[in-house]
This record gives sequence, structure tokens and C-alpha cells, in this order.
Amino acid sequence: MQGLMMEVPLTLTHVFERGVGLHPRQQVVTQRETGPPRRATFAEWGDRVRRLARGLHELGVERGDRVATLAWNNQEHLECYFAVPCMGAVLHTVNFRLHPDQLAHVIADAQDRVIVCQRSLLPTLARVADRVPSVRWIVAFGEGEPDPPGLPPVVDYEAVLATADRPLDWPALDEREAAGLCHTSATTGDPKGVVYSHRSAYLHALTLLTTAILPGGLGDADMLLPVVPMFHVNAWGQPHGCVFAGAGLALPDRFLDADHLLQLLASERVTITAGVPSIWGPLLRRLDREPVPLPHLRTILCGGATAPPSLIAGFDRHGLTMVHAWGMTETSPLGTVAVVKHDLAERLTAEEQLGLRASQGLPAPGMELRLADLTTGALCPHDGVHEGELQVRGPWVCRGYLNNDDRTSFTVDGWLRTGDVATIDSEGYMRIVDRTKDLVKSGGEWISSVTLEGLLMGHPDVAEAAVVGRPDPHWGERPVAFVTVRPECPEAPTLEVLRAFLAPSVARFWLPDALMVVDAIPKTGVGKFDKRQLRRQLLPATAPAPEG
Ligand code: ADP
Repeated sequence: MQGLMMEVPLTLTHVFERGVGLHPRQQVVTQRETGPPRRATFAEWGDRVRRLARGLHELGVERGDRVATLAWNNQEHLECYFAVPCMGAVLHTVNFRLHPDQLAHVIADAQDRVIVCQRSLLPTLARVADRVPSVRWIVAFGEGEPDPPGLPPVVDYEAVLATADRPLDWPALDEREAAGLCHTSATTGDPKGVVYSHRSAYLHALTLLTTAILPGGLGDADMLLPVVPMFHVNAWGQPHGCVFAGAGLALPDRFLDADHLLQLLASERVTITAGVPSIWGPLLRRLDREPVPLPHLRTILCGGATAPPSLIAGFDRHGLTMVHAWGMTETSPLGTVAVVKHDLAERLTAEEQLGLRASQGLPAPGMELRLADLTTGALCPHDGVHEGELQVRGPWVCRGYLNNDDRTSFTVDGWLRTGDVATIDSEGYMRIVDRTKDLVKSGGEWISSVTLEGLLMGHPDVAEAAVVGRPDPHWGERPVAFVTVRPECPEAPTLEVLRAFLAPSVARFWLPDALMVVDAIPKTGVGKFDKRQLRRQLLPATAPAPEG
């Protein structure tokens, strides 16, 4: 027997209309270098969203076209977040920290038609201007130097809005249509595009409103400060969640230092904030030096890399609750959240609870997790001991990549292979213990070990090279290169020599921090570099196993 309920499409258009219609007085606030932040009500912001959609339409953007953004977290970026998908186009948020070759690749891969670019980032775009023929217009906003030469035609964002005399009628969208696109780093080769649908973004946003994710949920009494960049997995879906819930947004623009963040947290009475551990370490040290009362702040969401227990406990000392979460670009990104179950909170000591809070957590409602043995592929028990590759399934997990037939990230029965190695205990808490993907994560950004190894092995003195991540108190991980030297080479190259050799080919933050010249690089049974062994070598002798 079939259910008899309506199948209303789950679209971001509904999210937008609900937020603006029910909460017109809610605020979008953007930090400025000096002076008070810029403010708009949801009513004013919503009007600009509609005019931006009209303006983009006048520039020739049609249903299904990709519109890219190169911007920090600010009001204009939030305008694009809704104008583009609600008009039926696809928002492609681009990481402006990518090396120019990767930047050119992601724009070409998406076939972006228009790029909305913050003026201060136009020079970044200018570096790839001759490699992005799909781009017809650049819509520039904010302050900056005069437009650099060589770009496709640049129009002013405010002029586009000013000439949009009437709002665009939103098209009736199918919930399966693409709403957003975000590229994620591949172990080898170029970044891969993850295409979010309206349905996945809607369901993901709805989950953010629940107490399974944020203690106390997310509602119209909240003011949320996403430090996580809006080019990074839709700022973890928080802009969508806030507009859905009628919660305000305090956007930091490019001012991510502890002083500016504390100022915004205090002045806007922020209740929830979210970012990677490398943001929270300096903020905690600043609070330890000089406490700032933040009575409204009830949740600091921390994800993207392991949150050490010391960081969580450090914020506890200030009466601030850090909530640890795990996710991926492929999972929109909400996968697991380390909330303590009610009965465990009543039973366990604070110390024991810290162990759970520092785990990667419980699956978000809608997500399923399982572990596959690293050698046999058989499913492992959830006993907190067996380590296996984490595989996930859910309505906001991708089932393929843009322009890419490679199925190696998916199992035959349709689960996503995360490339993370984890345990899951009998209560359902997941802990990441290692990674099979050949990537190093530094400050929330990926570095491809395989790319560095390929380049290093191109140096005349280097025979073999293996790059792994070493735990780093600030960045989470930093790359370390193990190399063997060619027999004919009289003297091993130094770190400085190899960094200078790599510098033209990779982004600066990719350059290895340390070099280990060794006689041989350990290999696995099938002759691959044994990276687990190399990583273990890098742990200080007294250090406990990596926190999960
Ligand atoms: P994001 O950084 O937004 O989570 P990415 O796709 O860039 O998305 O990275 C996802 C990967 O980052 C995961 O597969 C995992 O390796 C790592 N990661 C994310 N969150 C955590 C976490 N809380 N603890 C440990 N590793 C994490």
C-alpha cells in the first residue's frame, strides 16, 4: 500500500522564502576591518537576492548554468548562496587558495559562465584568466585595486543589482536538480567536483536544526558565526540552516584573527560558531591570556580535522562548549557529531564524557556508517576495537563525481568509501584512527602527498620519496618528506634545496616542513610505501596513539 502524502519538491527556494517571509527583521552582519560591522535585515538581504537573480538572468545565466564565487564570508556571498540556486542555476564555490593550475581546472571542469568575485581576489583570478574560456562575465564586489588586465569583462555587482528593476519569478524546480558544486582534493590528479542537489541541501539544512547536531538546536533566537569558509562545503550547510530556521548570521569576511573574531562574537551576541581546530587554538590562547565574557555563546562546532581533548577541555574552562563533528565535502558535510547521549551524560564522569566528546561522534540522523576490513573488505564489528575503512550512506552523500567515471570511491552496493580508517564502539561512537587516502590536512586544507612525491622524485638527487603528515599543534598536520638519495649523488639535498625545487609547482602551504633522508622507505606486502609505518615513526616516542 502506498502512502497518500504530497510530494512537494524539497528546494532551497522554499528555504529562502520561509526565512525571508517569516523573519524579515533577522540580521545578516558582516565584519569590517575597522568600525561597526555592516548590517542588513533578512528583508533587505532578500530583496538583494531577488535583484541579483534578475541581474544574473540579464547577463545570460540560464537554468543549469554554473555561477562561481570567489569570496570570503560576507553578505554578497550569502546573496549568491540563494540567488543562484533559486533561479535554477548552480552555485560553484571556489577555493581561492588553490594553486593556479587547480583553480583553472575547477573553473574549466564546472564550465562556469559567470564568476562573482570579491575585488581583492581579482588578482588571483587574473592568474588563470587565459585558461577559463567558459567565463563570459565577472561580477565584482567590495573594495580593491583597479581591475587587473586580461580578465573577461568585469561588471560591478552593485550596478547589476541597481539595473535589476523587477524580481525574477523563481522557476518550479525539481528537487533532484543541482543546487551547488564544490571541488574536493583527489589523492592523485585534479580536484573532483561534488554536485549537491536541492533535495540534499534541504535535508542537510533541516538536520542542522535538530538537537542531534547542536545542543539546543538552531532557531530564530540564534546568531551563528561561520568561520569555516563559505567556499568550503557550503560553510558546512550553516547558511542554509540559518535561513531555514530564521537564525541570524554574523559573517567574519577575511578577518579571522582571534581579536576580530572575539569582537564579533561579543558584539553580535553570537550563540553558535563553527570552524576548524587551527582557528580555535589561537582563540583559546587569547582567552587564556585575557578572558572575554561570551555569555551568549553556547556552542563552538569544531570539525574538518581532529579536535584534541585538550582543546575541548580548554574551552570548558571558560564555560564554552565545543562540539566535535566529522564530515567530508562528499557528505555535504555533516556525517557524525560527538554529542553525549542523555543516559551516558547522567552516568559518566566528566573525564569519561570528554573521551566521547573527543571522538568523531554519532551518525547524524539520516546517515549510516559501517567499517570494512582493510585487507579483506569484510564488514567489521562495531566493538570499538576493530579498525576498518569507514563507509557511509545517506541522502546528502554523493553517489559520483562531476565529469568523472572513476568508481573507486564507491562500493558495488553503493556506499561511499571515505578513505578514513576508524573504529565504531557498541554505543555508536566513531573514532578516526588513520587515513588510507594519500593526503595531508593542514589548517583544514588538503595537500596531496602523491603530487609532492612525484615532484620530489623529479629532483636529480632523489631516488624515492614518500610524504606523510606529522601531527602539528597548530595546523593539525604538516607534510614531512622521506627521501632516499641516488647512489651517484655525493651529498643528500637539504630541505631548503627541495623546498626551492617544489616552490614553483605547488601552493606555499604545501612545502614540506621537514626532510628525513633514509636508506630505504618501508614498503607494504604489495610494494607500496608503508605510510602507516612512516607516520608512526614521526610520532614522539612518549606520545599516546593519535586521539580519535
Ligand atoms: P571538511 O574539511 O569540510 O570536513 P573535506 O572533504 O575537505 O571536508 O575533508 C574531509 C576529511 O577530513 C575526512 O575524510 C577526514 O579525513 C578529515 N576530517 C574531517 N573532519 C574530521 C574530524 N573531526 N576528525 C578527523 N578528521 C576529520
